[in-house]
Amino acid sequence: MYDVMRVREDFPILSREIYGKPLVYLDNGATTQKPRQVVEAIVDEYYNVNANVHRGVHFLSQQATDLHEASREVVRRFLNAHSTNEILFTRGTTEGINLLAFSFGESMVKEGDEIVVSAMEHHSNIVPWQMMCERKGAHLRVIPMTDSGELEMEALEALLNERTRIVCCTQVSNVLGTVNPIAEVVKIAHRRGIPVLVDGAQSVPHMKVDVQELDCDFFAFSGHKVYGPTGVGVLYGKEEWLEKLPPYQGGGEMIKNVSFEKTTYNELPYKFEAGTPDYVATHALAKALEYVEQLGMKNIEQYERDLTRYALERMQQIEGMHIYGMAKERDAVISFQVGDIHHLDMGTLLDRLGIAVRTGHHCAEPLMRRLGIEGTVRASFGLYNTKDEVDALVAGIEKVRRMF
Ligand code: PMP
Repeated sequence: MYDVMRVREDFPILSREIYGKPLVYLDNGATTQKPRQVVEAIVDEYYNVNANVHRGVHFLSQQATDLHEASREVVRRFLNAHSTNEILFTRGTTEGINLLAFSFGESMVKEGDEIVVSAMEHHSNIVPWQMMCERKGAHLRVIPMTDSGELEMEALEALLNERTRIVCCTQVSNVLGTVNPIAEVVKIAHRRGIPVLVDGAQSVPHMKVDVQELDCDFFAFSGHKVYGPTGVGVLYGKEEWLEKLPPYQGGGEMIKNVSFEKTTYNELPYKFEAGTPDYVATHALAKALEYVEQLGMKNIEQYERDLTRYALERMQQIEGMHIYGMAKERDAVISFQVGDIHHLDMGTLLDRLGIAVRTGHHCAEPLMRRLGIEGTVRASFGLYNTKDEVDALVAGIEKVRRMF
């Protein structure tokens, strides 16, 4: 049995009041709150261990290094990667995708080549590829989607050709909640020998991800969206790819030998990790992943899907409600508008009731254009949200609707 009230006790911020009302935090797609286990790991490491990693012979440096490298193993297990050489620590999803777009672009992309992204990507999985295309004279191609927010898989087949270098696709849309058939996307791309990058920012917090089962070549996610600290994330890459790709940033740690004439690079994963990593954050990220693993990703997924189904049922009964994204496979994100109430007005008034939602284009302007709108209100759920909170949201929306 998943005991959500027990889980909530681990998150001190959830007992805060906002304008005298209990906080109803429904902005988990933007970032999640942190359990004590994560915050305490950060405090403990700064108080008792702190020393720079990889470079010291002294006790603290070795201890900090051990914690940092043990975290890499936790991430490896969490994603079921083959080896820790495939786990690169980054600042987050955005940095992971920029790393790949640069490194892959430098070595694999020529003028006239094509990069495929989907119509529902976050700017983080569009702009780095666009910048690379500009540098290389390559072109961006877009997998279209249906009105209900599902990828058009036949169109994906038709898009791929001998000039396609990589397919970049989100596993879960941060606007529509659509869960994309990534294993299928990978199969289609691999049939033509094309690698696939998966943006896992919105999937990792909500479902069990197994990169070997998906068979994707690259996979990026952010720590802060999976109950971990800000400023740390992961880029997974198959070892055979990472071996082939050149480094992204130069500096300390990513080198084997440096002379003014020539530098040779370190082995994996360090080749891609220039400079002092946020080793406190990597340790805290491991604590966050252990936390969700202990609750059970299957249990979390089941709980959140039930909660989302309940929310969808209740919200659809509201007069004037329009929900964007009704894919068959959907996750804990609900984007909506009510009548012609501006999303900013809805968000601001809900805030006054203690309900935190996100408003705007959600860093997906091309998707907004596809939907023919400027923005939505977005409620996104996490493992600590409850049906009572959904009821509070519904009551809040009704109250705002009556005001208009
Ligand atoms: N991709 C998706 C699907 C996202 O939802 C987000 C965060 N909103 C990102 C990428 C970027 O994540 P970060 O800002 O943590 O790098």
